[in-house]
Amino acid sequence: HYDTVSSAIDEKLSQMSNSRTGDSSSQPGLENAPEFIPTTKSTEIINKLMERLEKPLYDDGIDSRQILRKNKETYASVLRTKIDEPNVDNLVKAGSDEAGTAKATFLCLVRNEDLDGIIKSIQTLQETFNNEFNYPYTFLNDDEFTEEFKKGILNALPAKASVRFGKIEDSDWEMPAWIDIGDYQKKMEALDEQGVGHAKQLSYHNMCRYYSKNFHHHPMLRDYKFAWRVEPGVSFYCQIDYDVFKFMEMNNKVYGFTLNLYDNPLTVETLWPTVMEFVREHPDYLHENGAFEWLKENGQKPDNYNGANGYSTCHFWTNFEITNLDFLRSQLYQDYVDFLDQRGGFYYERWGDAPVRSIALALFADKDSIHWFRDIGYSHMPYTNCPKRDEEKYRAQCVPGKFVPWGNLEAENCQATWIKYVMSEDQMDLY
Ligand code: GDP
Ligand code: MN
Repeated sequence: HYDTVSSAIDEKLSQMSNSRTGDSSSQPGLENAPEFIPTTKSTEIINKLMERLEKPLYDDGIDSRQILRKNKETYASVLRTKIDEPNVDNLVKAGSDEAGTAKATFLCLVRNEDLDGIIKSIQTLQETFNNEFNYPYTFLNDDEFTEEFKKGILNALPAKASVRFGKIEDSDWEMPAWIDIGDYQKKMEALDEQGVGHAKQLSYHNMCRYYSKNFHHHPMLRDYKFAWRVEPGVSFYCQIDYDVFKFMEMNNKVYGFTLNLYDNPLTVETLWPTVMEFVREHPDYLHENGAFEWLKENGQKPDNYNGANGYSTCHFWTNFEITNLDFLRSQLYQDYVDFLDQRGGFYYERWGDAPVRSIALALFADKDSIHWFRDIGYSHMPYTNCPKRDEEKYRAQCVPGKFVPWGNLEAENCQATWIKYVMSEDQMDLY
């Protein structure tokens, strides 16, 4: 039996290498989907928007401990309410004709040595969702994937699974030539001494820049509208019986997330001032229904807001993200990320793709098009999104409402600010 399976896999692999020649490296043109073309705004409107971006959410004299206490209650009360599927009348259920028909893929950027970790992730993803929907997987790497890696993946997935393995162009991945290496090293030496993780790891900086600026232009993603990012070592806990990608598409969602948190302000000291420079150059790019309050929150962790020079550091935890790639491929997003890239903060600081992406979404997208998948039980160490589900039906294995095993990290959760200041009643009523 093993021989038949392995020769089937060998055949699948050889077909893959034959079909690879079509994947040339040329970047597709920007698509500019109409929903992401900014509207021209009056000076009055622009002034109002800028004012909201310049002042903190809370006035002086805040009691951050009290805010944290209330925020924890808000968070717990939402996740301890029973959560089923989104309350829309157009869910595409497993088994229906339309199930699995969105132009969508799972996206795993991994190294060969991440094999065991990514297998663990895709196993629970398959069990809780994709066995019913059979969406394809796209694996990307800055190095060539080994035969062992490819076979390992194909072995872990059902025979019907569609899988592609791609290499990232060096020019899209490596530190750009205009970064001063001496300056980079000096600055990362200093960040490292202050205890900032990954500061001296060049590949980590490359990864953050790649996820911010380039992944959505990879030729293997050209024909997709949505990508669901999956990382090694994560778990999915709850059964999802509807097509998540079709939900995004049919309800005009730009972004789906499960967790949102504070970042280490030392990694993004100049990110917010740099973004504000960009915004002053392109004020029309701002969305009138943006999630500004979430960016300007200064109550729960005021030191973060101050350390990041006017930014809460709240960000979607991008190790889980479902992105509408048309947003990332729009002129607007590309201008934004090119501007940031030119300033060098992916190397002279340690800007993460998470704050970079999150700020763009909160400023330039309609907040109602950003969806919190409360119903997807998910964890990446050490944080978890665990909803209260119908136990018999869904067999949730996590503890509803438990965000993190260690109490001192409770303060890292930004979700209550999202709930209180960003979510409209319609969004609250979705579950
Ligand atoms: P963390 O979650 O912030 O600690 O970062 P991870 O180490 O999980 O990296 C984020 C994602 O990028 C994961 O999917 C990694 O597998 C991937 N990744 C990180 N560094 C590299 C790299 O140098 N090469 C490749 N191909 N993938 C990487
Ligand atoms: Mn990770």
